[in-house]
Amino acid sequence: MADFEIAVIGAGVVGLAIAARLSEKHKNLVILEKNEKYGMETSSRNSEVIHAGIYYKPGSLKATLCVEGREELYRICRKHNVGHKQITKIVTATNESELMVLEATYANGRENGVPLEILTKQQTLALEPHINTVGSIFSPTTGIVSAHELMDCYYHLAVSNGVTVQHHCEVVGIERRGGEYAITVDEGGQRSVVTSEKIINSAGLYSDKVAQMAGIDIDKAGYRMVFAKGSYFSVASTKAKLVSRLVYPVPHKETLGVHVVLDLGGRLRMGPDTEYMDELNCDYSVAESKRNVFAESVRRILPAIADEDLAPDMSGIRPKLQRRGEDEKDWIIVHEAQRGLEGFYNLIGMESPALTASAAIAKHVEGIL
Ligand SMILES: Cc1cc2nc3c(=O)[nH]c(=O)nc-3n(C[C@H](O)[C@H](O)[C@H](O)COP(=O)(O)OP(=O)(O)OC[C@H]3O[C@@H](n4cnc5c(N)ncnc54)[C@H](O)[C@@H]3O)c2cc1C
Repeated sequence: MADFEIAVIGAGVVGLAIAARLSEKHKNLVILEKNEKYGMETSSRNSEVIHAGIYYKPGSLKATLCVEGREELYRICRKHNVGHKQITKIVTATNESELMVLEATYANGRENGVPLEILTKQQTLALEPHINTVGSIFSPTTGIVSAHELMDCYYHLAVSNGVTVQHHCEVVGIERRGGEYAITVDEGGQRSVVTSEKIINSAGLYSDKVAQMAGIDIDKAGYRMVFAKGSYFSVASTKAKLVSRLVYPVPHKETLGVHVVLDLGGRLRMGPDTEYMDELNCDYSVAESKRNVFAESVRRILPAIADEDLAPDMSGIRPKLQRRGEDEKDWIIVHEAQRGLEGFYNLIGMESPALTASAAIAKHVEGIL
């Protein structure tokens, strides 16, 4: 008999949400996490926005699970006192030529079932007098959340349901043995094997590598990811009251654009930009040299920001299936039975809006389990 019924690899917001949900019915779960604590990678390096679901391709997993997950997330936050605020958002067109993109974005959002309103220049300025606009979309269901508190919540729900969480425990090998999986783990240089009937690969930036460990040819399968760093600059506190909600430019092909992010403490940040990386490295430093370029793109939406108002802040790395110049790619959430890996579930390319959608992703995984 295997040590565990289900092993979840990775304790980011997605793995934790899955463990919290599955542990309501399955009693023998383990989470294997390589870092000393849960949530130390992408899940704690993002905009903490509860996305409404405006941008994603209708019918995609991103669209459906974002819309469903957003409402579920608000319910979880209210029930478990997770810090959040339905702060709302404006997507602003800054010149006439962007109005067409704005309309297409509105139509896409409506097709996804997102409540949205088109505002004129005057209506927009009545809400946000300091932004540059010729018209906008108002999104009443967009919000912000404390990603740390959300992960604490999922973690405690999982642990109180009896889930074992093994930190400092890196998965380095996976082998199918009879009806179970032998998982080789490295704990500070010490290697051992744990066995599990099922595996859920929720390893974020390393999920393609984990799939490879199980014997999947990730190039043939289309699982090999690319990585895009997103940096943020913080704005001087004297300028923090220039906006009272999230303000985004119209979206571009690979990014939502450098936007104005407010956190629950009222701190204003700008970001993230999109910098494709040649290879994955965990250099999260933010280059001071980006300040000018950053300030210029920020001034397109908030003209009162001067270069010296910005200071390098934090960054995160997006695990993407979409290569530079390609159209958006959907998340991969699959049971790999057809590859001879019965009971092996892959979650790959879990970029934004997976924080928003975490609870709905967990429900979806339960559905295919
Ligand atoms: C700049 C930026 C801004 C974003 N903004 C938003 C936003 O506003 N709203 C939103 O909804 N989403 C946003 N996102 C996306 C969101 O942050 C991610 O989609 C989400 O955090 C992914 O969670 P995860 O659990 O899949 O991955 P992660 O948080 O990366 O967790 C994966 C875990 O797996 C562990 N792991 C990896 N390999 C192994 C191994 N071999 N053995 C054991 N453990 C392993 C890692 O240590 C890690 O803890 C943003 C992302 C970025 C980069």
